[in-house]
Amino acid sequence: MSISDNLKVINDRIAATCLRAGRDPASVRLVAVSKTKPAAMIDEAARAGQVLFGENYVQELAAKAAEVKECVEWHFIGGLQSNKVKYIAGLVTMIHSVDRLSLAQEIDRQWGRLGKACDVLIQINIACEATKCGASSEGVFSLVRDVAKLPNLRIKGLMTMPPFFDDPEAARPYFSELSRLAREIDSLAIPNVEMRELSMGMSGDFEVAIEEGATLVRVGSAIFGGR
Ligand SMILES: *Cc1c(COP(=O)(O)O)cnc(C)c1O
Repeated sequence: MSISDNLKVINDRIAATCLRAGRDPASVRLVAVSKTKPAAMIDEAARAGQVLFGENYVQELAAKAAEVKECVEWHFIGGLQSNKVKYIAGLVTMIHSVDRLSLAQEIDRQWGRLGKACDVLIQINIACEATKCGASSEGVFSLVRDVAKLPNLRIKGLMTMPPFFDDPEAARPYFSELSRLAREIDSLAIPNVEMRELSMGMSGDFEVAIEEGATLVRVGSAIFGGR
């Protein structure tokens, strides 16, 4: 199947899941995760109508953004070192992976130099696995309060990446916990904090994530093939 066929299948599945869950299909955006894939494949997806792409590695994103011909929007979704933020400043419209104050401070500094504000999601490590990045569910409240004080950054929601399961249903408790956390944070009405985006769900489990409230699903291999 071509990239265009794959995109159609994924978009149809997103729409069908929304209908089943009583949600407006326009409330879910597909982030096409193009890490390790060449610029030509991104252009092909863009010509098939895909606008939004997610990348994990700073150097790779900077190189491909210069190479891609179509007009696309980039989100940064991977682990991010503070000293590399300057290479993606102004290039991405959202960073999904803010998991510590020092990183948020550097994003604030770099976007501030451009006279712009960066939309960010706070990444939560619900599973508390030592190997995955993300703030703990307990630490998220103080992190959100501290990040919210930075002037050149706007908190738009939360992101999580559950452990890998063969059965997508096994990821459901992680997705519902992220939704619950977002509602709890929303109820605190912290200035400069919106909980309108939930970035959760990948190729294997995006339908379950949508049922639990995802607004951004990050799908890679089901569009571009295995890595
Ligand atoms: C690679 C990646 C994805 C996409 O994973 P697939 O299983 O290929 O859909 C989503 N989110 C993050 C953070 C990733 O690193």
